[in-house]
Amino acid sequence: MTTAHILGFPRIGAQRELKFALEAHWKGALDADGLHEVARQLRARHWQQQRDAGLDFVTVGDFAFYDHVHTVTALVGAAPLRFGFDGPVGLAEYFAMARGTADQPALALKKWFDTNYHYLVPEIGADTRFALNRDWLLPEVREALALGHRVKVALTGPLTWLWLAHADAGFDKLSSLSLLLNVYWALLAELKNLGIEWVQLDEPILALDLPEPWVRALETAYRELSAAGPRLLLATYFGSVAEHAARLKSLPIAGLHLDLVRAPAQLDAFLDGWPDERVLSAGVIDGRNIWRTDLAATLGRLHGAHRALGERLWLAASCSLLHVPHDLSQETRLDPRIRRWIAFAQQKLEELALLKRALDEGESAVWRALHDAAIALEERRSAPSTCIEPVRAHMRTLTAAQERRASPFPQRRAAQQTRLQLPLLPTTTIGSFPQTPEIRAARAAFKAGRIDQAAYDAAMRAEIRHAIAQQEALGLDVLVHGEAERNDMVEYFGEQLAGFAVTEHGWVQSYGSRCVKPPLIHGDVFRPAPMTVEWTRYAQSLTAKPVKGMLTGPLTMLMWSFVRDDLPRRDVALQLALALRDEVLDLETAGIAVIQIDEPALREGLPLQKADWPDYLGWAVRAFRIAASGVRDDTQIHTHMCYSEFADILPAIADLDADVITIETARSHMKLLDAFAEFRYPNDIGPGLYDIHSPRVPAQAEMQRLLDRALAVFPGERLWVNPDCGLKTRNWPEVAAALRTMVAVAHATRTQL
Ligand code: GLN
Ligand code: ZN
Repeated sequence: MTTAHILGFPRIGAQRELKFALEAHWKGALDADGLHEVARQLRARHWQQQRDAGLDFVTVGDFAFYDHVHTVTALVGAAPLRFGFDGPVGLAEYFAMARGTADQPALALKKWFDTNYHYLVPEIGADTRFALNRDWLLPEVREALALGHRVKVALTGPLTWLWLAHADAGFDKLSSLSLLLNVYWALLAELKNLGIEWVQLDEPILALDLPEPWVRALETAYRELSAAGPRLLLATYFGSVAEHAARLKSLPIAGLHLDLVRAPAQLDAFLDGWPDERVLSAGVIDGRNIWRTDLAATLGRLHGAHRALGERLWLAASCSLLHVPHDLSQETRLDPRIRRWIAFAQQKLEELALLKRALDEGESAVWRALHDAAIALEERRSAPSTCIEPVRAHMRTLTAAQERRASPFPQRRAAQQTRLQLPLLPTTTIGSFPQTPEIRAARAAFKAGRIDQAAYDAAMRAEIRHAIAQQEALGLDVLVHGEAERNDMVEYFGEQLAGFAVTEHGWVQSYGSRCVKPPLIHGDVFRPAPMTVEWTRYAQSLTAKPVKGMLTGPLTMLMWSFVRDDLPRRDVALQLALALRDEVLDLETAGIAVIQIDEPALREGLPLQKADWPDYLGWAVRAFRIAASGVRDDTQIHTHMCYSEFADILPAIADLDADVITIETARSHMKLLDAFAEFRYPNDIGPGLYDIHSPRVPAQAEMQRLLDRALAVFPGERLWVNPDCGLKTRNWPEVAAALRTMVAVAHATRTQL
């Protein structure tokens, strides 16, 4: 019999139960026992779902109160000493590290490979101690056993944990490996005692450009750990590990998992000479996207492996299902036609069980389900919305001139200055103002049908009036309308563009209790009607100062959506760019002189292997330029990005040729600006003068220091003054106080230039 399993299941709950329980706990409204009870119920439900679907194991260890990497940090006892804990990490200490304390900042959050999930970065150094903390993971294993499940334990492997950790300066992380392995060994021994047969250790770092010492270390580690007791399934995903095939075949592990969605071709490298007695787990269901699997094609590809491996072939999703929403059956409002094309986590369990039966009992045993899947696939392929000829024609007829502004930057700059008459060090904000409870209430009332369109519009216009009045009073130079009408910077546009669908419950964990609800791009994208023009025009009608039009860029739209898998991503980006280009031109026609195209997600699209970067950056930059380049010289294009790793992609950022870029720098104390200066970044730049993530209002001297630091490396004529990012998560008193200080700093500095 073929074994079907998953690497992990979403932990947040179909109704985001974990999110609400966590937030209640942090507010003091739910005690630790209450939180544990919610978690226990969620785990029990998710295990039961796996069992009911017909999987051969339930996967235990994928649950986490905040993040699975952080759970390993707790499990191996590696709390940074700076927190000063005097005992082992319990729930309170776990959250203290995740969220920070009065005198210690939280562990850093970083993106988990190329996903939108963030892990808490472990910190290690020469003084890090390791000791197995039995309060973590083991109780969950006992819980699953008590429920009568056949359990496979899953956790992040030691090499990946170590690779992801931040090391003290000068400290060689690999020197901690043997201490860490002792703890993993002790854990594996305990699991063996509990009767656990299989342990899945995730080592996604194998899909990266991994330095040779790390590959060797991985080999040594697994030779050692495979003697600890349970059978080890080494799980790789997010890319091909074919380059390590010879080594992986020689390891004494009991099984290997491959991501055959991202890297289907690697299967052959492993089938050829795969050692007897070893399992190959074929990740054939997409754990990163929400489209139904082409079951017939998948079975076709599996037959060879099935013949070669027999029972040693396992079936799985490509990676943990953490990255997809829970259950499609909650989506009652989704267009039924599109709904047929989709599989969320629960549906993916069913697909796996189906593939298993098809292999074991023959396709005729499940012909009805296979037939239905084939029809849905055919419906999707032939749906008119997936190929819209005018969109395709537009893509084909793009000219090189449409990818470029008409004039070089210095000439545009002069034209813009003539039109805008801005002072030195112009002040602006990044777009959003506080999403107040009143705004949320109005949106909820409108969605529920309690107020009509006219009442909703009136409420939003009142917000815009308020935002404009505040900005005028503060003395800002380039104003924004405040984005009150936007629930989310991607979903807002997804709701208006053709080719998109939005879900009601399609939540995916981003970090901790924070979830995102990515829209789906299912068809050719175009813009049926202007999206932002009326709000922006209204805002501009209220003031003589320029109001900045505010758009989400093509790459960010792409990166923060579930994207169709039947068209190359570069083509979807191009369609998004063309739709946004029309919006940009309509804003210009409406008299808007400054337009910002946000690309906070440009960087996260970078492929995991550096060799693939130039290709991605090529089409990504082109998409942005197509969106931005239709305007006249005297229309000023801004872009905004909020991350602090720029150095390696500065040439691409300069190639965007935005007239002004605003970036997050306050948290890195302007260090980032040095890279721009060194690179001789050619256009204008607005380094953030304060961190918007915290309610704290920095003192004037602090912002002044940052601006002075910027002025030391960049000429004053090319600098703008702004916060790090949008202000939607703050409240008005904080925002007004911080912006008042920021404007004062700009004014004081201007007179000295
Ligand atoms: N314009 C957006 C805002 O201000 C930008 C958000 C972002 O960079 N993530 O909210
Ligand atoms: Zn930002």
